[in-house]
Amino acid sequence: MPRPYPSRSSHSNRSSRSRRFSSPSKGSRRRGGGQQLMQPDLDLFVKKAKNTVVETYTPTHTFATLGLNPALVKTLTQRGYETPTPIQDQAIPHLLQERDLIGIANTGTGKTAAFLLPLLHHTLEAPQKATLILAPTRELAMQIQDELRTLAAHARIRSTLVVGGVPAGRQITSLRKKQHFVIGTTGRTLDLAGRGFIKLDEFDTLVLDEMDQMLDMGFLPDIQKILQAGRAAKHLLFFSATMDKRIEKIAKGILQDPVHVSVKTGTTTDNVEQDVVYHGADEDKLEILHALLLAHTPEKAIVFDNMKHAVKNLERKLHNLGHKAVSIHGNKSQGQRKRALEDFKRGRANILVATNVAARGLDIPAVSHVYNFSLPQSREDYIHRIGRTGRAGATGFAYTFVPK
Ligand code: AMP
Repeated sequence: MPRPYPSRSSHSNRSSRSRRFSSPSKGSRRRGGGQQLMQPDLDLFVKKAKNTVVETYTPTHTFATLGLNPALVKTLTQRGYETPTPIQDQAIPHLLQERDLIGIANTGTGKTAAFLLPLLHHTLEAPQKATLILAPTRELAMQIQDELRTLAAHARIRSTLVVGGVPAGRQITSLRKKQHFVIGTTGRTLDLAGRGFIKLDEFDTLVLDEMDQMLDMGFLPDIQKILQAGRAAKHLLFFSATMDKRIEKIAKGILQDPVHVSVKTGTTTDNVEQDVVYHGADEDKLEILHALLLAHTPEKAIVFDNMKHAVKNLERKLHNLGHKAVSIHGNKSQGQRKRALEDFKRGRANILVATNVAARGLDIPAVSHVYNFSLPQSREDYIHRIGRTGRAGATGFAYTFVPK
């Protein structure tokens, strides 16, 4: 059962939430630093926990028996990836044989490594190979590149990011050299292809990640153009959180005898009791958080904020209020981050304040509570954040601060 939290920030039914919520301005929200935040989505932020029993998956392979290049296995060991996740276990053997694939998997299942590992393997075997990976958002493209760099730590792999929102100059410069992996969003990729800097017909492999989101965002014409121009690619991989008719239709004309791999949940949020915490423009969010922490007495809580400096300030303020808080953010050195995480893991601190970028990919133990002190920047960010709690059959609690 969730513990009560201060009534001024709690609203017990949906209609009152929706009514109270009607005031925020439409359109995107911007904060200092130009960060774009998602529109508060009550369908996403407010949910009862289902308390489903999570079945444990027994993989049929280990990373060592999958037959991956030793340089990759070495990285996986160092990174602490002990066993393949279900999508990795099921997809990697087919991808190593260069089968086309439709992967139904959401964020948090380990799907990025599920395609990167076999593609890296092929690249190490045949360095002339080139792969184009398309993602719906810049953030996702960046995450894929981060994961690629991590997994290729012991390999000489060249990759470049081709995304909008930044000048194309540096991207063009790096594209002048042969890149093993080009990771991009469709708009900038087509732009640079149109200007002759990317040769879409020279890729051996094409990966389309989060296709359902791309289609929801209206990128079907772009996808069609890229697939048409890149049809020389021998190896095609489609990933989506859901399988829908639109994807089936695109796949039908272009994939050859694809393997279907479906993994329902990875970061399951079924067991997470989710609610919003309203705050007025003149209310002190810190005071509300302080009251919530006192009321909930979380065993382990992660407080997410979007900006590095905000995370740093929040840690200090919580500390001054008597909470055992540590923080991780991009401005901390690797050693400092490691230390903070150790304190959190070992219970010397029960509150970890973090940017989700810093928290992503880190081995953070199951936590009882997640507080979204600032709105996440995307749906995936939200799912990633709250997926830190409610693991292994335990009920977790997630609260998202929403302006009135
Ligand atoms: P993804 O679904 O690709 O967004 O991955 C979710 C998270 O799981 C990422 O932070 C990865 O670094 C991590 N991850 C991927 N594969 C494994 C694995 N086999 N073991 C542990 N963590 C993993």
